[in-house]
Amino acid sequence: MAGSIPTPRPGGSMTHQEAVSRAIEIAGHVLAPAAADNDKAGRFSAEAVDALGRTGLLGLMLPAESGGAGLGPRTFAAVTATLAEADASVAMVYLMHALGAATIGSARSGATVGPVLADIAAGRHLSTLAFSEAGSRSHFWTPISRARRNGSGGVRITASKSWVTSASHAQSYIVSALSPEGVSPTDLTLYVVPAGAPGLSVAGPWDGLGLRANASAPMTLSDCEVPSELQITDDGAGFQAMMSIVLPLFNLGTAAVALGICRAAVQATAAHLKSARFEHLNQSLGESLPTLRAQLAAMQIDTEGLSARVDDLIDHLERPRDATMLRVLETKAAAGDTAIAVTSAAMRACGGAAFSKHTSIERFFRDAHAGAVMAPTGDVLREFIARIVLGMPLF
Ligand SMILES: Cc1cc2nc3c(=O)[nH]c(=O)nc-3n(C[C@H](O)[C@H](O)[C@H](O)COP(=O)(O)OP(=O)(O)OC[C@H]3O[C@@H](n4cnc5c(N)ncnc54)[C@H](O)[C@@H]3O)c2cc1C
Repeated sequence: MAGSIPTPRPGGSMTHQEAVSRAIEIAGHVLAPAAADNDKAGRFSAEAVDALGRTGLLGLMLPAESGGAGLGPRTFAAVTATLAEADASVAMVYLMHALGAATIGSARSGATVGPVLADIAAGRHLSTLAFSEAGSRSHFWTPISRARRNGSGGVRITASKSWVTSASHAQSYIVSALSPEGVSPTDLTLYVVPAGAPGLSVAGPWDGLGLRANASAPMTLSDCEVPSELQITDDGAGFQAMMSIVLPLFNLGTAAVALGICRAAVQATAAHLKSARFEHLNQSLGESLPTLRAQLAAMQIDTEGLSARVDDLIDHLERPRDATMLRVLETKAAAGDTAIAVTSAAMRACGGAAFSKHTSIERFFRDAHAGAVMAPTGDVLREFIARIVLGMPLF
């Protein structure tokens, strides 16, 4: 359990390898034993968040001056994929937190985010994004809600946020809204709204097909007051922050989640093909049927291909160049398709045993579908990619 994890040392220095080792410990001791039950019950794992906090992983990418580990996308992807291999719901909670933390860390001068950053580095604060709205659906870059000046330097926000991962479990929410005087549909501003702010509430249940344990419920802001110190971006600069800070890390993180799911599916399929037997033939499924071996091989090839794509995107984020935005878009689109293909092949290869939930493969299959519908969706990404290739404007 969480108590047996050996390195409860939040914040401070940490190497890439130490971070990955901590993720492996947490995945093995906290996530894996509870993943099936949490999925079934739709139960958010507070134990997982606690373990991530106590080992400093919540502050992974915050700079050292904020008390974080100052590590980059390479370690973030490795940690996220490791968590996803055991429990994709927790990996998604971690991913959304990392985006929230990065956004808070980029706050404009004048914002008072020091205490929040200190709490994240100390492992006491989980954040998340509240971008998607019921009105603009997956087009999160065009919120319907508009912030209104409150007469004392801050704003009031009324908004219907359609899905918010870690809803009611996070300590803060990065909220988007059109700027008070904004004129274009993307003139939006980002705010950090603390849990417990009057007017902020969970608006419904979360009962997803997959990622059932990540509490991605709808939330409502009703005349919610946000003081100017909690305005993260300048007026109208939220879109730029979404594109430059959130999008690259979100697409990398969702690809890492997909990679973890694919690795888990390959392992579970191999384990089943080795253990399930045709007793009348005195052979395991894997020994007996070349068709199953071929399906497993295809799954392995696709998984390694996705791993190479993730590595390529990390390289682009570490050394940005002309094709970097294309890679950001391509990697999430490809990852969603790969995770669905690999887990579908696993379902087929493991037959009635998978269908009847004798293995974890049906959970991987359900979880794999989330990546493609999370915005920017696979369809939207393909639309953007083609527009870039054709030299057309994105928006
Ligand atoms: C598990 C989960 C967790 C989530 N967590 C969060 C969160 O923490 N924060 C947050 O802000 N949001 C979150 N979301 C919301 C998510 O990012 C999307 O906004 C949401 O899934 C979109 O669903 P929709 O039904 O509104 O899609 P719609 O916009 O109704 O899309 C319907 C279909 O049309 C396609 N489509 C839409 N636009 C285009 C286009 N321009 N070109 C081609 N095809 C298009 C889509 O791909 C989709 O297939 C989460 C969603 C899920 C499922």
